[in-house]
Amino acid sequence: MLRFTPLPTPPPSSSLTPSPTTILKPVTTTHSSPCRRCLHDGLPGQTMLLLQYNPFPSPQSPYTVPGPIYVHADLQDCIPFQCDGRVPEQQRRRLLAVRAFDEKNMMVGFAVVEGEELGKKAGEMLGEDGVGFLLVYYAGPGCFAVRVDRA
Ligand SMILES: [Zn+2]
Repeated sequence: MLRFTPLPTPPPSSSLTPSPTTILKPVTTTHSSPCRRCLHDGLPGQTMLLLQYNPFPSPQSPYTVPGPIYVHADLQDCIPFQCDGRVPEQQRRRLLAVRAFDEKNMMVGFAVVEGEELGKKAGEMLGEDGVGFLLVYYAGPGCFAVRVDRA
């Protein structure tokens, strides 16, 4: 059983308002703006916040690099994701980079998979010795998608 967590560390509250590193972005095309709070893509007509985010827990490691993510700007468009153990639809239809980390946040494995294969691959990687958790990124743009743990 797998647990998918969209925002494993809370984004700084200062990043949730427009600033030099957080911008408001209107959605113009379907599937262009995947929200990391509800794990639904922004719909045309909605507005997203584009902000920097670091999904790593403490302690820090050389791999803790913040990257860009989207979240819905209007919380009425965004019901927080509830994990049911299945790969979220948002990840199932994208090419993903899956990175395995140990308890010291050091990378100990990686793979690139089609989203439909994420559940199988994540189960295999989490079954390996020394793997504590997985961080999944969208393979093209390289932005954080979701964290995966053993449930
Ligand atoms: Zn959302």
